[in-house]
Amino acid sequence: MIEIRDLVYRYGDAAALDGLSLSIPDGQYCLLVGPNGSGKTTLVRHFNALLTPDSGTVTVDETDVTDDPVVARTQIGMVFQHPRDQFVAATVGADVAFGPENLGLDRSEIDHRVAAALDAVDLDGARERRIDALSGGEQARVAIAGALAMEPSYLVLDEPLVGLDWPARESVLDHLDALAADGTGVIVVTHDLRDLHERADRLVALHEGQVVLDESPSDALGALPDLGVRDPRC
Ligand code: ADP
Ligand code: MG
Repeated sequence: MIEIRDLVYRYGDAAALDGLSLSIPDGQYCLLVGPNGSGKTTLVRHFNALLTPDSGTVTVDETDVTDDPVVARTQIGMVFQHPRDQFVAATVGADVAFGPENLGLDRSEIDHRVAAALDAVDLDGARERRIDALSGGEQARVAIAGALAMEPSYLVLDEPLVGLDWPARESVLDHLDALAADGTGVIVVTHDLRDLHERADRLVALHEGQVVLDESPSDALGALPDLGVRDPRC
């Protein structure tokens, strides 16, 4: 369970998160939406202590993430909008192995995790391929595999689909479905709900750093245009 209580975060004087509270149970598939600047990225960067609250708390399984960022970072895998900026190695296999190597795992466990993570995104044959030679959709899947190799309880994706063509987008979404079905919590930050709203359990909308809507996606859709988010059915 990720538990956010009364979270306030300011950049200078401006509150990007303004007393936000939210609980996300294990295994949930949750969409986080809202207009540009509503605080989505700022919120998810608190989940694994990339940002520290000005006030309020973020706990993962009852551990405060600011007390134990390492635990938070192994439980919560993050994939950012530009996966290209996240890669640390030249080849697919080396990049996906990087996280487990830093956990100090032995070689056979690292190999097992890399194989399982690449298998989960259908890139099992791509270990030796150069990342810079992959398509955008393949790069997004490598970034997801890198997060999965940490065996996180939750996978958080901040605008992971921007810039992907439709087949690549569908492929990534199908892989997320499979992960969610296997019990991994999935949190997708997006302003484009097309083909996502029917897959998720829950939709949370932010506006000016607060939760303004928290419902099942099908119940939430009608209210979205008022929040500056396009209704994907239109
Ligand atoms: P979203 O991801 O929903 O677009 P952000 O969390 O990026 O929203 O931004 C929330 C608010 O914080 C916005 O008003 C934005 O301008 C501001 N903000 C975000 N990052 C920074 C930063 N590094 N420095 C100053 N202000 C920022
Ligand atoms: Mg953002």
